[in-house]
This record gives sequence, C-alpha cells and structure tokens, in this order.
Amino acid sequence: MGGSLLSLSLQAHAATISLTPKLGQVQCSIQDLKGQTIAVVGLGASGRSAARLALARGASVLAIDRNEQVVPLENDPQFAEYDNLQTIRGHCDNILLANADRVVVSPGVPVKEYGLSTLLQSGGQVMSELDFAAEVFPQDIKILAVTGTNGKSTVTTFIGQMLQHLGIEAFVGGNLGKPLSDAAIRCLQASSMNDLFQVAVVEVSSYQMEIPNKYFSPSVAVVLNLTPDHQERHMTMQNYATMKCRLFSHMKHNKLAILPIGNNYLNEAFASYATGCNVAWIGDFPGIKIDVKAKVATFSNPATGLVSHLQLGALKTMGTHNYSNAAVAAFSVLGLDVGIDIDSVNSTVDILSLLPHRMQVVCTDANGVRWVDDSKATNVESTYTGLTGLRDCKSVVLLGGLAKVLSDRGSNGFEQLIDLLKHHRGVITFGSSGSMIHKTLCDGGLDIPCFRVGKLEEAVSCARSIARYGDTILLSPGCASFDEFRNFEHRGQVFQELAVSS
Ligand code: ADP
Repeated sequence: MGGSLLSLSLQAHAATISLTPKLGQVQCSIQDLKGQTIAVVGLGASGRSAARLALARGASVLAIDRNEQVVPLENDPQFAEYDNLQTIRGHCDNILLANADRVVVSPGVPVKEYGLSTLLQSGGQVMSELDFAAEVFPQDIKILAVTGTNGKSTVTTFIGQMLQHLGIEAFVGGNLGKPLSDAAIRCLQASSMNDLFQVAVVEVSSYQMEIPNKYFSPSVAVVLNLTPDHQERHMTMQNYATMKCRLFSHMKHNKLAILPIGNNYLNEAFASYATGCNVAWIGDFPGIKIDVKAKVATFSNPATGLVSHLQLGALKTMGTHNYSNAAVAAFSVLGLDVGIDIDSVNSTVDILSLLPHRMQVVCTDANGVRWVDDSKATNVESTYTGLTGLRDCKSVVLLGGLAKVLSDRGSNGFEQLIDLLKHHRGVITFGSSGSMIHKTLCDGGLDIPCFRVGKLEEAVSCARSIARYGDTILLSPGCASFDEFRNFEHRGQVFQELAVSS
C-alpha cells in the first residue's frame, strides 16, 4: 500500500528503548506502526513533531506541504537518523493521502484541503496532530486542556507556573510552545513513570479540533470565552463553538468541564458533547464567581459542593481580566485532584507572571509616560478587555493593522470600544485597516481626539506628541499584524524599541 507505492525505504532505525512493566498503561509500543505509511500534512513545528513521533513508532513518513520553500525532512538535521521518509512540496495528488494508512493533519491545514473532509467522511484514518500524540499517552497522565478565543496562553502559562511552584512535574505546550507530539515522544522514550510528567497542560486552538478527537481525553477542560474570530476558517459561530466544545467529548478521570455562563453558541454545542461531565461555570455556581473590588474569587466544586476562596490581592499582573484568568487557572489546578489544596494554590498567586506582549509594561519614559505593549490583542474583544483594566488612568490608544472579518456581525466590531475610549486622552489608528477603524469610531460618535496615520512608527510619534505626564501609551491594536509585521511578536518588539528610544 502507501509504503510500496512510494517506494519508501522501511529501514527504520529500530528504537532500542524498552518499556518497563511500570509503564504497562502505555497504549502503543515503540514500533506499533511498523510497516505502515503515515502521511503528515503541513510541515510547521506540529507537523515535524508528528513526523518524528510516527518515525519513533516505526512508521514510514510521507511529509507533505504546499509551500515549495519548506525545508524537506530529508535535509532537516532532526531527521538525520531516519531514511524511511519522503517529502512532497507543492502539488500533491490526493490519491497519495487516500493510500496512506493514516493521515495526520497539522493545525494550519484546513480539512477542506487535499480532499481531507471527503476522506474523513468515507471512513479514512484522518486525525489531528493532537489526537495522534494523545494516542500514546499513558492513562495515568492527567491532561488539563485550555481553549477559548482570548486568554488561552495566559491561563495555560498561569497553570504551568502554579504546578511548577507546587512541585508537580508538568508538560506545558500544545498550541503554545512545544507541540503535544514532543510530549508523546517523551512518553515513548521514558523507561518508567518516574521519568515522566504527571500532568500535561495543553493549550488548544480551534484549528487543532477541526477533526473530531478520539484519544485526546482531558481530565479537566476549559473553554474560557467565545467571541467572533477565525470566521474565514470556521465560517459560522456555531461551527466555531463546536470545535471548542469537542474538548469535552472524551473526558476521563475527574471529567471537570469549565465554561462561561450565558454564551448561547457554547451552550448549544456543549449539550451534544458533555455527557457525564462535572460542569463548572465561569461566572456562576457551581464554578467560579469573582468579586473584583474585594479581589477575591469564590469557588464551588460541582462534584463535592465544597466552597473555597482564592485571594487575588497579591496578583502582580496588569488588568482585571487577569483576576479571572488566575481564578480559572487555580480552579482547574484544584480540579486535577493531584493533591493540591486551596491553601497551596493561594500561595502561588503572587508568583504568576504574563507572557510578553500581553498588557506588558515596557517602561515609564523621561516624560512620565508609561508604555504598555498588548500587541497580542489581535481582535476587538481582547482590546476591549485590555481597556477595561485601564480605567484608572488616561491613555493614548493605538488601534490598527489588519482588521478581522466578522461575518456574523456585519461590522468590524470597533464601535464596541467607543464608550471605553471616551475616558481616554486620544486614539491613533494606523495600518491597512486604519482608515476603516477611524471612520467607524468617528461615525459612532467618539468625541476625543482621533488621528489616522500610516505605519506603527508614525502612530508612536503621534501618540508621544499628545500624551501628558502620568498618561499611558497603549498598543492594543485589535487587529492582525501581517500588513506590516511578521507576527504580533515582531509588532510588539518594534513598539518596545520605539518606546525605550523615546
Ligand atoms: P490567546 O492565547 O487565546 O490568544 P493570550 O493569553 O495570548 O490569549 O491573550 C491574547 C489577548 O487577549 C491579549 O491582548 C490579552 O491581554 C487578552 N486577554 C487575556 N485574557 C483574556 C480574557 N480572559 N478575556 C479576554 N481577553 C483576554
């Protein structure tokens, strides 16, 4: 079949690692895919990691990417020890996928490409990188999965910091940092449970859940929120909600499902997936309620009814949304049932820190102006959230870049910001959607100074000229960055360099 068709050499360098009886629960032996051809579609970090996992499991790999410029696995030093692989760049005949024993799909590749959805519907073995990785996880490892439109990386990072501080060995990755297949390779190579992690904290994007999962089975799963985003791929909010709620479809152990109260799209999607879960709400009981003024979160456990409190006063991160992020992280950690109690989790609040470019205070300049980089705000809701946490000072807010298509709304969504912006010093719009955003704000009655400029650098000069002592200059663009930058990190980096050179 696929292997002979492609004349792939099957001389896999048989792994010499043997599994001890202690790892009896490992579902796949190290050579369980010997003689099979696994097609891996999409050769970014996740695809490459999945290819390494397939090779470690004894398979031959057919690696596929539309991009002619991508480095073939044959030339990638990570694959130097294998010769049972072949890379196809550019056009690939769908028949090659149909003939493979399995097709593993990277998150960046939509199922409408390569005939994947037809193959899936006709019963072909098509799986996501996430599911391919989860297949080899020992039963004892608990998975804590985090998804949502905004805040995934922050909450995933907070959970990782809490577990590390409390001495629990954890893998932290998925959509953030290392792909789950890296963790799966570690599972295959471990000689005993002592070499492994107890918990996998996995950030999950909707792209990773486009293909229904079978093996990815979280003990605790969180959907933080759901607002319009990624509509070009998922088309409707119903589809988008379905992808997110797949996280709840094969839960095990404690089966703790956490989601926000009052989101109709999620409620509908959740109903078809959540059989047998313990349900906890963000914003209601059982679940999590937050008193922002008192800086305290109250937890009520859906399984036991137990009530406990998390003190948030020691949190050092900027923005009230981080009270919610820290509370959800703490509640999820408690729900894992790995011997952590509320006192221990309370002791971690003051060590939590944000990743760069999320409401990151860059500096206060010689004119007494504070510079805040929230370049990761790539949609309007995340900008809204950032501004909500900045009510106590006047800011000059930089909005712009490449605005997202919001098919369900019929608008660019920036009108939602007007009430919050009214309290601030001024707004500068920039980038390819700058004019459109400027028009939306002015037509919507924004009555503070609002300037439209070309690129980010001009936006920064303009902001500097209107900011006064004690003000904040906030980059929270509400747009993608690709019109001017490689990614949001690049945009944030440029903003930070301009800030410190002022
Ligand atoms: P993601 O990984 O989902 O993109 P991040 O944690 O990287 O989320 O944050 C993305 C943006 O969303 C940042 O601008 C951040 O300030 C904002 N944000 C963080 N947490 C939340 C939240 N709970 N709700 C809404 N926006 C948030």
